[in-house]
Amino acid sequence: MQSLAKELLQASQKLATLGLNKGTSGNVSVRLNDHGEDGFLVTPSGMPIEEMTPDSMVKMQFDGSFELQKESNAKKPSSEWRFHRDILQNRTDVNAIVHTHSMFATTMACLHKDIPPFHYMIAVVGGDTIRCAPYALFGSQALSNQALTALIDRKACLLANHGMIALGKDLDDALAVTVEVENLCEQYWRVLQISNGQLDEPHILSEAEMREVFQQFKGYGKWAK
Ligand code: 13P
Ligand code: ZN
Repeated sequence: MQSLAKELLQASQKLATLGLNKGTSGNVSVRLNDHGEDGFLVTPSGMPIEEMTPDSMVKMQFDGSFELQKESNAKKPSSEWRFHRDILQNRTDVNAIVHTHSMFATTMACLHKDIPPFHYMIAVVGGDTIRCAPYALFGSQALSNQALTALIDRKACLLANHGMIALGKDLDDALAVTVEVENLCEQYWRVLQISNGQLDEPHILSEAEMREVFQQFKGYGKWAK
């Protein structure tokens, strides 16, 4: 498990180095059962990547129970453990999951639109669109359900007003998909800039949706009051 925890840390650090995740945004998980153990390892909640060590990684079972490692500086698993759990449980082709709030994927996700096949590299996600899952509160089962649907026959999806999820057969594969999806979203964003003002209005969250977010923040990391 320790070597996998190191790989999970390295993957998280790489996302920060590439500028794909900043602060405490995003999270990563990897399946344990290829290594003689059940469940999965997931990054801790609300912790800046610079503060993470291999011991910060949280071991979870598919029933949602978790164990902190002995020397852990973590308090709990990622608030998005539900979608990590549900994807790993439903997709036997997937062993690693990356979630980012990267700039261009998130920008496009605010339009609530699938990315069409404007470039052939869309194929890396396994189909001819990158679907955008409808908005749901971060950390909720509703978000996990929406993500699972948007990921049918796909290795990535956008999350409306939030970011993206990328899947892989291992951490390197999931990172490669992440980089490509971000690249495609930047390219599509640029295409929209020059397509005669046909850029859609961004979808703005309602007051009720924002109230739910503030409520959820009460139990989340350094934003908790
Ligand atoms: P965690 O710090 O709990 O992983 O949450 C970050 C995030 O991206 C929530 O969607
Ligand atoms: Zn997120």
